[in-house]
Amino acid sequence: MKYEIQAQYKGDYDVIVVGSGPAGVAAAISAARNGAKTLLIESLGRVGGISTSGMMSHFTGRCGSKLYLEILDRAKSKNRFYPDRKKKYIDPELLTLTYLELLEEAGAELLLYTTFCDVVMEKNTVTGILCHNKSGFCRYNAKVVVDASGDGDVACKSGAEFFKGREADGKMQPATLMFKLGGVDTERAVFPGSFETLVQTDKGELQALAREKLPHPAGHVLLYRSTLPGIVTCNMTNVTEIDGTSAEDLTRAEIICRKQIPSIVDFLREYAPGYENCFVIGSASLIGIRETRHFKGVKTITEQEIAAAVQHEDAVVFDAHFNFDVHNINGAGLDETGCQEQFKQKNGYTIPYGCMVPEAIDGLLLSGRNISGTHMAHSNFRAMPICLGIGEACGAAAALSARLGKALRDLSAEEIRQRIGG
Ligand SMILES: Cc1cc2nc3c(=O)[nH]c(=O)nc-3n(C[C@H](O)[C@H](O)[C@H](O)COP(=O)(O)OP(=O)(O)OC[C@H]3O[C@@H](n4cnc5c(N)ncnc54)[C@H](O)[C@@H]3O)c2cc1C
Repeated sequence: MKYEIQAQYKGDYDVIVVGSGPAGVAAAISAARNGAKTLLIESLGRVGGISTSGMMSHFTGRCGSKLYLEILDRAKSKNRFYPDRKKKYIDPELLTLTYLELLEEAGAELLLYTTFCDVVMEKNTVTGILCHNKSGFCRYNAKVVVDASGDGDVACKSGAEFFKGREADGKMQPATLMFKLGGVDTERAVFPGSFETLVQTDKGELQALAREKLPHPAGHVLLYRSTLPGIVTCNMTNVTEIDGTSAEDLTRAEIICRKQIPSIVDFLREYAPGYENCFVIGSASLIGIRETRHFKGVKTITEQEIAAAVQHEDAVVFDAHFNFDVHNINGAGLDETGCQEQFKQKNGYTIPYGCMVPEAIDGLLLSGRNISGTHMAHSNFRAMPICLGIGEACGAAAALSARLGKALRDLSAEEIRQRIGG
């Protein structure tokens, strides 16, 4: 039986951004600041994606994006307890408010609780989107759509070419549901912030104890200070073999992670100094999916370019720096290949504009962790500061394309750089 969707037409925009994670918020602010009539659409009731709804601990790595530094400064200026500007810990409440303020000041419109469903296309060009929310199905026209959904839902529907996960076997990085602990004695507490941070305790080494005691595939200890007294952010649930573009897998991941939380809390109370009286105060409302689709762009950034800190002529993201952060695809801890060790450079790398332009689709930009890159390169540029830098560039490019009536693929990096101060 054929089923026709009745979608109410809701308006025309220069730029529509789908997904309000770091890459989407930055794209919307940047597009609006560059004069575009901009709408940001988000399926959750909150802006920020993994950085807020995902209850993220801190910004890792760095990026020479002015907007990233502005967001960091604004969020920190709201922080009463730890105003130390060197620390990049996140208070999800303050960061959400920061994003909302900046979006409003820029003049970007926001629509929450609204899920992108499909694209409207003329030949190979995206000309609008179809969404669903409480009001029913709705349709918007846009000169440019920026896909900042993390998973590339818009690009996928448009027919853009992609692969998932690792090139060799399609396996994707494990998922994690973040949560926060209260009642931690932060004066004495330990904060192993990487898999390689070993902590000797009276009862043994903490990472080794976690491998032995926690329910597989959990089994590592990642704990971070927060901006609040006695509160710690915990990145320790772990679930493998999850495809974040499948609702069934997302549900399974959510249940597995939630069931791990009590064991993790018991473990920390028993073995981690400072955590003897800890308790759960909240968990993320968005499960942390690290990796799904990688699209084929006009350009594709590789791990070799990142490791060599190539300064691309057509760069629109600058001074990006992080390590290759591939988690163990089969269990707890770090990827078994030891890829993290390959990144020892001091200089930041750049990202060419072509990585944000799908190879064969017009009217669409890729922003954030779904830009065109290899599995290994993605493990690096997925860090939030870099996603914010990508979003800033995408927003400027989208606004420029809409204003000039020039195809996205015909914009020069120089034109975009002029609008982001790169
Ligand atoms: C568990 C975990 C720990 C991490 N730790 C760190 C860390 O410590 N530091 C760091 O810098 N980075 C960290 N990262 C990486 C970083 O958080 C992500 O790579 C980054 O948030 C990606 O940004 P994004 O904007 O591309 O996507 P996301 O943050 O994933 O945002 C995508 C947004 O799009 C929305 N959306 C999705 N589909 C639709 C749709 N169809 N319609 C409407 N809206 C939609 C989602 O609800 C979400 O709000 C971590 C990631 C994970 C998963």
